[in-house]
Amino acid sequence: MSEFHEAIIIGGGPAGLTAGIYLMRAGIDTLLLEKMIPGGAPMNTGNVENYPGFPEGISGRDLMNRFAQHARQCGLLIREFSEVDDVSAEKGRLVIRTFEEIYTSTGIVLATGTEPAKMGIPGENEFLGRGISYCATCDGAFFRNLDVAVIGGGDAAIEEGLSLANIVRKVYVIHRRDSLRAQKVVQDRAFRNSKMEFLWNKRPLEIKGKDQVEHIVIEDVKTGERSEIKVDGVFVYVGARPNTAFLKDLIDRDDSGFVLTDESLSAKTKGIFIAGDARKKTLRQISTAVGDGALAAVNLERYILEKR
Ligand code: NAP
Repeated sequence: MSEFHEAIIIGGGPAGLTAGIYLMRAGIDTLLLEKMIPGGAPMNTGNVENYPGFPEGISGRDLMNRFAQHARQCGLLIREFSEVDDVSAEKGRLVIRTFEEIYTSTGIVLATGTEPAKMGIPGENEFLGRGISYCATCDGAFFRNLDVAVIGGGDAAIEEGLSLANIVRKVYVIHRRDSLRAQKVVQDRAFRNSKMEFLWNKRPLEIKGKDQVEHIVIEDVKTGERSEIKVDGVFVYVGARPNTAFLKDLIDRDDSGFVLTDESLSAKTKGIFIAGDARKKTLRQISTAVGDGALAAVNLERYILEKR
């Protein structure tokens, strides 16, 4: 037997929780499935400084707890530790399977966000949890007064590098170009931080060590010169990959796997709307995820009312 809800939201980050608030306020019977606990990527962000309404900043965790509290207050049913592994379209309904349950719905909002991309170099998998990390907020404390490398030049690398600098002795930022893509205000702060050293035009080649990370081998992309940096940890921020494999051919994707939508945020299969970082778009922020969540919810509501 499957459990029916008019709308099912997959993913409980800012986009999914916002969609939940809007759908519940529209009187749509909605269930949110979340593979862990609600909050999404900002749960691993130290301080959020660019979300309007919090001029003093707010921790990602506190902000997301407020989102979840707001959604639950609207009556949204959130099922935690429910990872979706298959979606199919059958007889005008969508069938959503988790490892334990089968659900059906008229429509879904896909808000599964992204997961960290890997460098794909020797030693990366081997030293996972033994010096390699994708989350400074989770693991930074293990490196108190030690030396770490941060790989990448985007918002995540520089923001998390700055938060690591409060804990560790030294942060090497290893970036493959000679300029960063992170927001300027964050770049300026990093350049002023005496614990951060920038290694420009360098790409990571290998992670070395016995039981724990001990060295990172890097190569100068201009000269080809190789060198080894002694570090105790390597924090990897080389981009984000959407996790949408379980939707198979119900959606169209770009070359990097991000979901293509029309202006209403509808995917190619009717009744599937995409919100947040999993969607092909130019700006991935909490504020744009919130906008997506609201728009996807309102368009799904219209679709459901037509189908009722
Ligand atoms: P990103 O913006 O895609 O940056 C990835 C960085 O890794 C780039 O600097 C890239 O270099 C580098 N890189 C990519 N592949 C590499 C490889 N194989 N080896 C070495 N370096 C590699 O990813 P992100 O920083 O994870 O952020 C993801 C999205 O979330 C972005 O849209 C970002 O703006 C957003 N975000 C926003 C905030 C915020 O607003 N507070 C915080 C975190 C994330 P190139 O620069 O040469 O391409």
